[in-house]
Amino acid sequence: MSTFLVEIVTPERKVYEETATMVSVTGSEGELGILPNHIPLVTPLRIAPVMIKRDGGTDVAAVSGGFIEVRKDKVVILAESAELAQDIDVERAEQAKERAQQRLNAKQDEVDFRRAEMAMQRAMNRLNVRHKL
Ligand code: ATP
Repeated sequence: MSTFLVEIVTPERKVYEETATMVSVTGSEGELGILPNHIPLVTPLRIAPVMIKRDGGTDVAAVSGGFIEVRKDKVVILAESAELAQDIDVERAEQAKERAQQRLNAKQDEVDFRRAEMAMQRAMNRLNVRHKL
């Protein structure tokens, strides 16, 4: 079967590196399924799950924005933060969600509201990915 390398990298570390048969991500224009020999592209990602199919199973990661770069025989996901489903701390994500909810409920300026919305999306994405495990 035709395969390609998938890497998930953050400014802090390399989160993931495996040989895959398919990757699905949510780009700014919607869902994107990458199969071997996909045309090269770079596109921004939403705060959403990333699913990687490989021989022997499927991996899921919570990716908090960034970009996907599809090269000839390698896919690189460059994310602001990313965690594999099994590494997600549920209690931390629930606390982050609660904090974000309080900030969204409080009357505050637009910048803080937007930041709270992003924090809420990151927390909900982590909880959602964890539940897919
Ligand atoms: P928090 O308020 O809990 O820090 P956050 O959304 O602000 O959440 P980020 O700035 O996206 O956190 O990430 C900071 C670092 O913490 C990254 O390395 C990220 O992978 C890690 N991280 C954040 N939340 C979790 C979690 N629930 N489980 C595991 N790692 C997490």
